[in-house]
Amino acid sequence: MAERVIVTGAAGFIGSHVSERLIDEGMDVLGIDCLTDYYSPDRKRLHLRDLIKSDRFDFLERDLNELDLEEVLGGACCVFHLAAQAGVRSSWGAEFTRYVDSNILATQRLLEALKEHKEIKLIYSSSSSVYGDTKLLPMKEDHPLNPISPYGATKLSGEHLCELYHYNFGIRYVALRYFTVYGPRQRPDMAFSKFINSAFKGVRIEVYGDGRQTRDFTFVSDAVEANILAMKYDGDERIFNIGGGSRVSVLEVLDIIAEEMKTELDVKFIDREKGDVLDTWADTSRAKGELGFVPKVSLGDGIAEEIDWYRRYLQMGGGGVIGG
Ligand code: NAD
Repeated sequence: MAERVIVTGAAGFIGSHVSERLIDEGMDVLGIDCLTDYYSPDRKRLHLRDLIKSDRFDFLERDLNELDLEEVLGGACCVFHLAAQAGVRSSWGAEFTRYVDSNILATQRLLEALKEHKEIKLIYSSSSSVYGDTKLLPMKEDHPLNPISPYGATKLSGEHLCELYHYNFGIRYVALRYFTVYGPRQRPDMAFSKFINSAFKGVRIEVYGDGRQTRDFTFVSDAVEANILAMKYDGDERIFNIGGGSRVSVLEVLDIIAEEMKTELDVKFIDREKGDVLDTWADTSRAKGELGFVPKVSLGDGIAEEIDWYRRYLQMGGGGVIGG
C-alpha cells in the first residue's frame, strides 16, 4: 500500500509543487488548505487543477484551526506543514492576527495532535526571515535569530514550538529555512511575480530601496527536493538553511528579466519597507552534509521558467481576470 502523507497549504505556491512531487514519488497525499484571500482563491484552485485529477490526491478545504487534526493525521507517515500567512510587508498592524492564527496557533494545534501520533514526522516550512538584518553573512543555522518583521517573529515562534514539542514529547521534526523561493506559481505579492507581471503589461515596476539589496534566490523545485530529502533523513540535526546558491542584487534580477523578455523595464525606486532585510545569503553546508541537498537550477534558467509559466497564466486569463 502507498504511504500516506499530508501537505498543509497544498493550494499555495510551494505546497502545490510539493504535493505534485509526492504524487510522482508514489505517495497518497491529503492536501489541506482553506484558500485564504491573501491572494486570489481562484488562483489557488488553479494550482490544484492537475492535482485533483490524480486518484492519489484528496483535498480538504478547511482551516487548520477548525479541523479535528488528531483524526485527520491517522495513517500518515509525514506532515509537510507549509500552510501559513506569508508576506513580510503586510504583517504589521491589524493584519497581524492572521499571522498569529495561521503561523503560531495552527502550528501549535498540529503539534498537539502529533502528540498522539509520534510515528509521524513533521517538516516545518520556516524562513530566512528568522535571522533578521544581520551583518553575519552567509547566514548559518546557529547564528543569532533577530527577526525584524512580525512575519519573521511568527515563523520563529513556529520553530520554537517544534523544538519544545520535540524536547517535551519527542515529536520528530525538521525545519527548513527557505531563502526567497521563486518559479512557476510564485505568489503574486513577491518581487519576481510583480516584476514579470509589470513587464508583460508594460507598466512601471516599483522597487523598494535602491535595488542593491541582495537575496539568495531558491528555485521552487530545489525547495521541493529539500522537503523530500528531509522526509527521508534520519539524522539528529533539525534545522536547515535551504538556499538556491544564487545570491544577487535586485538590480541584477531586473537585468535578467529584461534580457529574457527582450524588453526595457520602466523602474521606479521607492522607499524601503519596514521589515525588509538588506541582504540574505544562505550557508547550506549543513543541508548539503546531512541531507545531501545541492540546488540544481541556476537563476537564469529559473527566471526563464517563471516567465514562461506567467505567459501561459496570462493566456488563461490570469493576472487580472483570474486575479493575483
Ligand atoms: P502561499 O501563501 O502561496 O501558501 C500558503 C497556503 O497556506 C495558502 O494557500 C493559504 O490559503 C494556506 N493557509 C494559510 N493559513 C491556513 C490555515 N490556517 N489553514 C489552512 N490553510 C492555510 O505561500 P508560499 O509562498 O507557498 O509559502 C509556503 C510556506 O513557505 C509558508 O509556510 C511560508 O512561510 C514559507 N516560506 C515561503 C518562502 C517563499 O519565498 N515563498 C520563503 C520562506 C518561507
